[in-house]
Parts: sequence; structure tokens; C-alpha cells
Amino acid sequence: MRKLELHWQILIGMVLGIVFGFIMTGISWGQGFVSDWIQPLGTIFVKLLKLIAIPLIIASLVKGISDLKDISKFRDIGVRTIGIYIVTTVVAITIGLVLVNVLQPGNGISDDTVAKLTQTYAGDAGVTSKIEEATRQKDSGPLQFLVDMVPDNALKAMSDNGLMLQVIFFTIFLGISMLLIGEDRAKPLKDFFDALNDVVLKMVDLIMLTAPYAVFALLAGVVVSSSDPDLLLALLKYSGVVVGGLLLMIVFYATVVGTFTKKNPFWFLKEISPAQLLAFSTSSSAATLPVTMERVEEHIGVDKEVSSFVLPVGATINMDGTSLYQGVAAVFISQALGFDLTFGDQLTIVLTALLASIGSAAVPGAGMVMLVIVLESIGFPGDKLAIGLALIFAVDRPLDMCRTVVNVTGDATVSMVVAKSTGQLGTPNIKEWDDHYEEVK
Ligand code: ASP
Repeated sequence: MRKLELHWQILIGMVLGIVFGFIMTGISWGQGFVSDWIQPLGTIFVKLLKLIAIPLIIASLVKGISDLKDISKFRDIGVRTIGIYIVTTVVAITIGLVLVNVLQPGNGISDDTVAKLTQTYAGDAGVTSKIEEATRQKDSGPLQFLVDMVPDNALKAMSDNGLMLQVIFFTIFLGISMLLIGEDRAKPLKDFFDALNDVVLKMVDLIMLTAPYAVFALLAGVVVSSSDPDLLLALLKYSGVVVGGLLLMIVFYATVVGTFTKKNPFWFLKEISPAQLLAFSTSSSAATLPVTMERVEEHIGVDKEVSSFVLPVGATINMDGTSLYQGVAAVFISQALGFDLTFGDQLTIVLTALLASIGSAAVPGAGMVMLVIVLESIGFPGDKLAIGLALIFAVDRPLDMCRTVVNVTGDATVSMVVAKSTGQLGTPNIKEWDDHYEEVK
């Protein structure tokens, strides 16, 4: 019998997880059961993915750079990547702003709903911690992000998944220096990292064997801890605008893939779908990164020289879904609380949401922290921030799941476009977890 394709297996796991979560919500001991006995399985899965993220970035980036014949090629890849990332993010924010201005989801919100949401969430630790976090991030100078990118201790950087840009910086430095000592001298190191790269990709294959079960656990956990359905309903129009915008982004990526790489967009979406489904289930582009890299390299055929740079950098700085959401949310909150926005304010939103999405961490809920900074940039009164965030807090998790899918798809799209433009989009070479199993079993 032909084995069911991975994305179908994951999808079935997700649907069963959601159904199971709803059944458990209706049972008195259900919520406790899910959080004690089911959710930990999902948590272990996410930890396994994070566990291999740093070794994978280092091994694959060193391999990518040391395979280059000249450094100028790397500069080409770098400049194109950053340029295209900025363009796609501006497209995303613009789509979000057009939709929220035309459909005006904030104007239909009744005072009662505002009062109820404020009462439920304005003092919630989730909301206040986001405001505090944003204040911490904001109190730094304009060049702080460059300072933060340079580690003062390589091992310390490697020991913290939040310091991915520092690890990338160190690895590029290492890779370029390896090129400069000449092929012969660098060979032992290169062989080591080549082998490490293959090993870590095998680990991705092995972890993915458990993905269908893990997403079951993750989604059951999300459902049992979700908010009051009445509140979710009140925010239906707002959520609809965000999700509609995110869907348009997927159409945009499909068009870009079709136009610039001449590949079938449906094939692209199918091959990348396991990464998208994991992005949805984990709400974290960083946790999804190893799978995104595996899919893009082995199943789509993007050369490692491109993917090893474009994807880790993208996971940290390119968040189209997040920036679209920040644009919509900022205007929605202003509409609902009667805070008038000028055209200039909307342009400010484009700029700050662009910077905010670059600064957002690739973890669940990070987009909401940076939303505080976007709101402050348009002069939103500080004492109303907690009320503003309270308005959208109830639906943040489901929207986070959706925007993370777009973040990951955007990175994969850009890696294809860059690879095509530098002649590095080849044929897929799919490896299975058990390719060498017979030899060792
Ligand atoms: N969860 C998102 C990500 O990891 C970031 C966000 O929008 O909160 O890509």
C-alpha cells in the first residue's frame, strides 16, 4: 500500500487534535488531562526542532559559503535577499492597510464588547508583559540592532536560540575566513561541517516521523486553552480581515513563484506544505526552520549556498505575515477606540511595521510585542495601550498561527527567487530517513 504523503498525515493529526481538544473542553477533567498528558508530547517535539536549529544553521551555512567559488557571489546573494525581503514586507503591510481601511472592522465594535474585552484582558499578565517587553526593546539607540548582531562570545551565542543573528554573523565570518586560507588547508574543517550537515538533516527526517502525533498534541493543547467563544465571535470581522490579507499574501507568493521561477506554484505549495503545517501548529518560524530548510533544499531544489543564508536570516528578519497583522491591528485598535489616523500616520505604520517585523523574534506572540511600538509611533496614548491590546488578545493565538504560515512561506518563496536569479535553482534530491537503514539495522 502506498504510504500517505507527509502533509496528509500531518493534516489528519491536526484535525484529530482539534476535535479531541473540543471534546476535552466539554469534560470536567478534560483540560487538566490534555495539559498534563497530551501537551507535553507537543512540547518535546518543538524542543527537538529547536535543539537542532543552531547546529543546522552553522553546518549548512559553513557548507554553503565554503562551496562558493568566489566571495562576490555571496555578496550578490546577500544584497538580493535583503532587497527582496524589504519589498515583500512592504507589499504585505500595504495589503493589510488597504483591507483594514476599506472594510473598517473596528467601527462595528460595540462599547459593550470593548468594555468586556477590557475587563477580561487589560490587566492580564499576557498583555502587561507584552507592553513591558516592548518598553525594554524601545529604550535603545538606532544602531543597537547592529551592536546586538555581533557576539562577544561565540559559544554563548550558540547556546541561545534567541541569538540566531549572532550565530549567523559568526558563521559567515568563519566561512569567509575558511575560503581565504585556501581549499587545501580548509578541507578538514569543510569535511567536518559537510558531514555534520548531513547528520542534522537526517535528524530532521527522524523528528518528522513523529510530526503527525506531535501536531495532534499541540493543537489539542491550543484548543483547551483558548478563550471564550463569544469573545472570539465579536472579533470575527477583525480576524477575517487579517486572515483575508494573509491569504492574499499566499496568492502573491504563488504568483511570484510562477512568474520569476517559472515553476508550478501548486507544486511549490505542496512541497512546502509540511513546513507550513508545522508553522501553524507551533506558531514559531524558528522552531519550523529546520523543516523549512530541509523542504526547500531537498524537495524544491534550492542550492545550499542560497538556502543556508536566505532561510535562517529570513526566519529572524522577514515576517510578512507579522507585519501585515501589525498594520491591520494598529488601525483596528485606533478605529475601535475612536483614535483618528491621518494618511501620514498610515505611512508611519508602514515604516514602523517594517522595522518591527524585522525586530520581532521568531517565537509565538512576538508580533504583539512589536505592535506596541507601532502603536506608540503613531502617538497612540500610552495609558490606552493596555486597552488596545486587550481588544485583540483573545484572537492573538489563532492569528499568530496563521501569520507564522505566511512568514515561513515568504522565506521559502524568496529563497527560490534568489536561487533562480543566481542560477542555483536545481532539481530536487529527496532523501528519506531510512536510506542507509539496511546497512546498520
Ligand atoms: N510567531 C511568529 C513567528 O514565529 C511571530 C509573530 O508574529 O508573533 O514567525
